[in-house]
Amino acid sequence: MNVLLFKQIATHMLQKHYGINLTETHFVQDTVVQRELAFNIRPFVALNEFAEDFHHERIDIPDRHRKSLKLTLSDEIQAMTDCIPVHPINSDPTTCVECGSRTHFNLLRERRQIHCCCNRKCLHEFIADEEMAIA
Ligand SMILES: [Zn+2]
Repeated sequence: MNVLLFKQIATHMLQKHYGINLTETHFVQDTVVQRELAFNIRPFVALNEFAEDFHHERIDIPDRHRKSLKLTLSDEIQAMTDCIPVHPINSDPTTCVECGSRTHFNLLRERRQIHCCCNRKCLHEFIADEEMAIA
């Protein structure tokens, strides 16, 4: 995860789930995002803390759940697939779509992986899908 991607995902999730813009939050500052990343905090975790601290309520779910329901990793994965391209898994090992370095990945579900670039200057993440490669 890098600053650019964190901001892209946070922008999307803030608008979709809370109806607010990134510019209305402290995540607009690179230094704030860098601090979250230094502690390996993913965007959805950072946004949950932000929403709690500033009493923001979800706009995308019914009233009675607004205060209790937290964002999850799957909300973040959905945001990633909405704002950056999903790539086919067509080579082994898969390389970073931004810089060509090796990636490490976690299986999200069968045939779908989240890849993280091993290059410390890049750290891009993307979703790779096996079914897309066959199609
Ligand atoms: Zn990379």
